[in-house]
Amino acid sequence: MSTPDLIRTLASCLSETIATHADELGELDRAIGDGDHGLNMSRGFGAVAETADSLAELGFGPAVQKAGTTLVMKVGGASGPLYGSMLMAMGKATPETPQTRDEVVAMFQAGVEAVKARGKSDAGAKTMLDVLIPAQQALAAGGGLPELRAAADAGLESTRDMLATKGRAAFLGERSIGHIDPGARSSALLIHRICDVLEGS
Ligand code: ADP
Ligand code: MG
Repeated sequence: MSTPDLIRTLASCLSETIATHADELGELDRAIGDGDHGLNMSRGFGAVAETADSLAELGFGPAVQKAGTTLVMKVGGASGPLYGSMLMAMGKATPETPQTRDEVVAMFQAGVEAVKARGKSDAGAKTMLDVLIPAQQALAAGGGLPELRAAADAGLESTRDMLATKGRAAFLGERSIGHIDPGARSSALLIHRICDVLEGS
C-alpha cells in the first residue's frame, strides 16, 4: 500500500471502528467514569477521518502528528490529549513511513512514553496504558501481529481486577474493581484494527 493510501485507510478504518463501538465505550465509561468515552473518541476520530485526504498529502510522520493535534483540539475529555500526545510523539519519531521492525518499535515506544508523561501514569493504574505498554513490549520482544493482538487482549482483561489510581475512575476507589477500563478497551480496538489493516496491505 502506498503511504497516502495507508494514511487514508487508517484514518477511515480507525474512525469506523470507534464509531461502531461508541455505545460500548460509553457503557464502560458509565460504569467507572462519566459515560462520555464513546462520544469523545467518535468526535475525535471522526474529525481525523474528515481530514483524511489532506492528511494523505502530508507524508506519514506529519500526517500522524496532525491527526494527534486534531484529537487534542476536538476532544474535551482526558482521552483526547492522551491519544493526541501519543500520535504527535509517534509522528515526530517517524518522519517517513516506518520500514523496519526497529522503526515501528521506536515509534510505538515514543507514543507510549508520551502517554505516560501526559497522564503522569504507568502500567497498573487501570488505564489505556495497561493495553499500550504490554502491546508495545510484545512488539519490542520480537512478536508479530498475533502476539500484538494477544498482548492487547490480555492487557485489557487485566484492567478488570485493578484498582484505578488515575483518571476519573480513581474517584471510585475500590468500586472501580470488577470493570474493564474504557480507555483500555478503545486502545485494544485501535490496535486490533491497525493489525487488520496491516495484514490486508
Ligand atoms: P474523561 O475521563 O475526561 O471523561 P474519557 O472518558 O474520554 O475522558 O477517557 C477516559 C480514559 O482515559 C480512561 O478510561 C483511561 O484509560 C484514560 N485515562 C484517564 N486518565 C489517565 C491518565 N492519567 N493516564 C493514562 N490514561 C488515562
Ligand atoms: Mg469519560
